[in-house]
Amino acid sequence: AKAEGGRGRWARYDPERAAREATSTALVAALPAALRRGEFVVEYQPIVSLHDGTLGAVEALVRWQHPTLGLLPPDQFIGLAEETGLIGRLGQWVLERSCIEAGRWHTEFPRARMMVSVNLSARQASAPDIVDQVAEALRVSGLPADLLQLELTESAVMATSGEPVRALRRLANTGVRLAIDDFGTGYSNLAYLRQLPIHTLKLAGPFVDGMRAHDPASVVAERIVDALVRLAHALGLSVTAESVESLEQVERLTALGCDSGQGLHFGTPAAPAAITALLRSAEMPAG
Ligand code: C2E
Ligand code: MG
Ligand code: MG
Ligand code: MG
Repeated sequence: AKAEGGRGRWARYDPERAAREATSTALVAALPAALRRGEFVVEYQPIVSLHDGTLGAVEALVRWQHPTLGLLPPDQFIGLAEETGLIGRLGQWVLERSCIEAGRWHTEFPRARMMVSVNLSARQASAPDIVDQVAEALRVSGLPADLLQLELTESAVMATSGEPVRALRRLANTGVRLAIDDFGTGYSNLAYLRQLPIHTLKLAGPFVDGMRAHDPASVVAERIVDALVRLAHALGLSVTAESVESLEQVERLTALGCDSGQGLHFGTPAAPAAITALLRSAEMPAG
C-alpha cells in the first residue's frame, strides 16, 4: 500500500523502501573499495552534428560493474556518492579516464577533433581543487583543453557553493567548454544564463520526446524547441538535443536549426572500441 502524505505516513513500515535503503547503505559502503578494485566503467555515447553528420563529441557516462548486482546505471549510485562526498574521487576518476580515452582518439584521429563531454555534479564543480583536477586530467592525457566539455545541470549550477559565476569562469579559463545539461528542466533563469561562460545548451529529453507525428501536443513541443534554439543562438550558444530516438525527430530538429543530437537514433552509450570503430569508418573514403 502507498503511504504518502497525511498523518502516520512515517509510522507505516514499507518493506520495499526498507529494502531500497538497505541496498543504498550497502552500496555507499562498497563504493570506496569498488573504486580501488576498478569496478567502474565509462561508456561513451555519440553526439552527432546535425549540420554535416559528423561525430562531434561523445558523452562519458559512468557505470558500476557490481560483482553481484550486475551493471548499475549512474542513477543508482551518483546521488549516493554526491550525498556522502565520495563523488569527489569517483568524479575525478571519470574525468581522468575519459580524458585518457579521448586523448588516444585524438592521437589516432586528429582530424576528427572529437570532444569528450563529462558530467560534473554540483559538489564536484564546487570543489576548491576542481580547476587543478581538470588541469591534471588534461596533462596526463595530453588532450587539448578545447576537446573537453563539462556538463552541469541548471540545478547543479545553482547549487554550486560560493559564487557559481566565478566558479564556472575559473573552469572556462582553463580553455574547456561548458554545457548546461538537461536544459529546460530547471529554473531556466535566462538573465542568469547570460552571465555564465557557457558554450552549449543541451535540450532536455522531454522536449525532444514531445516532437512526434500525429500528436497535437507536438506542435507545442516544437514551438518550445524552436524558441529555445533561437534564444541559444541569440546568446551565441550551440544547441544539442538529447534523447533523439527517430529519424523524424532528426529532420525536425535540423529544420529548427538545432546544432547536434544525441540519443538512441545515433547510438547507445558504448564501450570505447565502438567509438574507435566509428572514427575509423568515418576516415575511410566513401564508396
Ligand atoms: P545525462 O547527463 O542527461 O545523460 C543522458 C542520459 O540519457 C544517459 O543516461 C543516457 O544513457 C540516456 N539516453 C541516451 N540516449 C537516450 C534516448 O534516446 N532516450 C532516452 N530516454 N534516454 C537516453 P544514464 O547513462 O543512465 O545517465 C543518467 C544520468 O547520470 C546522466 O544524465 C547524468 O546526469 C548522470 N551521470 C552519468 N555519468 C555521470 C558521471 O560520470 N558523473 C556525474 N556527476 N553524473 C553522471
Ligand atoms: Mg549529461
Ligand atoms: Mg542530459
Ligand atoms: Mg540527466
